[in-house]
Amino acid sequence: MENEKIIVLDFGGQYNQLIARRVRECNVYCEIASYRTDLEEIKAQHPKGIIFTGGPNSVYDPASPTYTKEIFELGIPILGICYGAQLMMHLLGGRVGRAPVREYGKIEVQVDTNTALFTDVSPSTICWMSHNDYIEEIAPGFTVTAHSAHCPAAAMQDVSRGLYAVQFHPEVLHTPEGKKMLSNFVYQVCGCHGDWKMDTFVESTIASLRAKVGNGRVLCALSGGVDSSVAAVLLSKAVGNQLTCVFVDTGLMRKNEGDEVEAVFGPEGPYQLHFIRVNAQERFFSKLAGVTDPETKRKIIGEEFIRVFEEEAKKIGAVDFLVQGTIYPDVVESGLGGESTVIKSHHNVGGLPDYVDFKEIIEPLRNLFKDEVRQAGLELGIPHYLVYRQPFPGPGLGIRIIGEVTPDKVQMVQEADAVFREEVASAGLDTQINQYFAALTNMHSVGVMGDERTYDYAIALRAVTTTDFMTAESAELPWELLGKVANRIVNEVPHVNRVLYDCTGKPPATIEFE
Ligand code: GLN
Repeated sequence: MENEKIIVLDFGGQYNQLIARRVRECNVYCEIASYRTDLEEIKAQHPKGIIFTGGPNSVYDPASPTYTKEIFELGIPILGICYGAQLMMHLLGGRVGRAPVREYGKIEVQVDTNTALFTDVSPSTICWMSHNDYIEEIAPGFTVTAHSAHCPAAAMQDVSRGLYAVQFHPEVLHTPEGKKMLSNFVYQVCGCHGDWKMDTFVESTIASLRAKVGNGRVLCALSGGVDSSVAAVLLSKAVGNQLTCVFVDTGLMRKNEGDEVEAVFGPEGPYQLHFIRVNAQERFFSKLAGVTDPETKRKIIGEEFIRVFEEEAKKIGAVDFLVQGTIYPDVVESGLGGESTVIKSHHNVGGLPDYVDFKEIIEPLRNLFKDEVRQAGLELGIPHYLVYRQPFPGPGLGIRIIGEVTPDKVQMVQEADAVFREEVASAGLDTQINQYFAALTNMHSVGVMGDERTYDYAIALRAVTTTDFMTAESAELPWELLGKVANRIVNEVPHVNRVLYDCTGKPPATIEFE
């Protein structure tokens, strides 16, 4: 059975993914499509509603993105947001121009609560605005349903045609009642029932994977990260022992991580699948010996990973399917689906193996946002600590050791990191900080321990808060916690005599060190 669907028509706005996420949080499935998508293609998807996004352009500039007016005649409800609102007015005979006062930030807006969109919204509500243009004159057939001090037409509707428009951004958290408005749109205006739920997703995905794979054999590179774990469990539930998971222990994982992955996915764990752990630590260390350049290290690790994986795949022989843990933001950011300009190369470690003999790729998480992958993981019974695992870079500790990587240094950083994680968790801060870890600086410095001069390494601690990992703030950890961690590390980890805390944000620094 097909899910109800809302289509977000992307005009190049910054928050297109956010709109889709918010709609899905209302339990309605939502996909992003570029404004270049053909009307016929939109119609063929039978959306229950369409949302036009914001965008950087001005509608009165002839070179700006636009859409055929026929879309307003389909009888499908449409909500225009910011640029989308302006475009709707412009196309339907209203007038858009440069605003005498541009609005940016949180603005108080008066809304008509006797309308579908603003049902149960406070009559005066804070909305986030970001526009230079404004709607000077609404299009015929519309009525104004909200205004602010400097924006006479902050929202408008033509109920008979199912057309709605808002100048502000309901999708961002700075609009506290925005989610309510989006929910009103999908439920009250579009008449959705809310059939997008992770338990049914899990069930129907397992059924369709089973149908697709048939008697075929499936191969999966398991990293222990959330995405590949959830993808593997879906396939295991669908086809059991027809699935082989190869887990490459690079030696660059966090303390005990390899064993943790094995405990869940190995023969002692709860899932039916063939689990192959390749202990390739030595191979990685020997390739990395003497290498100090960060990019070279990344490349070596990525390539070696592929080589190891290929060797295992050759032993298995031809398979029918290769599983990839691609998720929806990867799809959108690689230029498919929306207007996103962030072009990411393939997100999986080092790209696709060249010599694995398979017929087809399966990407069971291709339509999910990260939060949804996590929910699906919990539905599937994957342990909480695995599902809520912090982001961990593909090259692992290889890029948390500045300069040359050696087994001794890996051990130092593993131990220091384990201490830090333990103390952050026991201070109850693990859910408030988005990412935190220890890195080994390549710096030696003089210290004194037991009356003896030392000349040892410095560990750097990093902890950040962020919502999207694109920008981040250094977390203000309590001094007491930092002191305790520093003390334990210096005492428990040989050859470390100094602990530093990184208080730079991103930008200008990155979250990882290399
Ligand atoms: N570029 C348009 C304006 O400045 C729309 C902005 C937006 O969609 N955020 O008004």
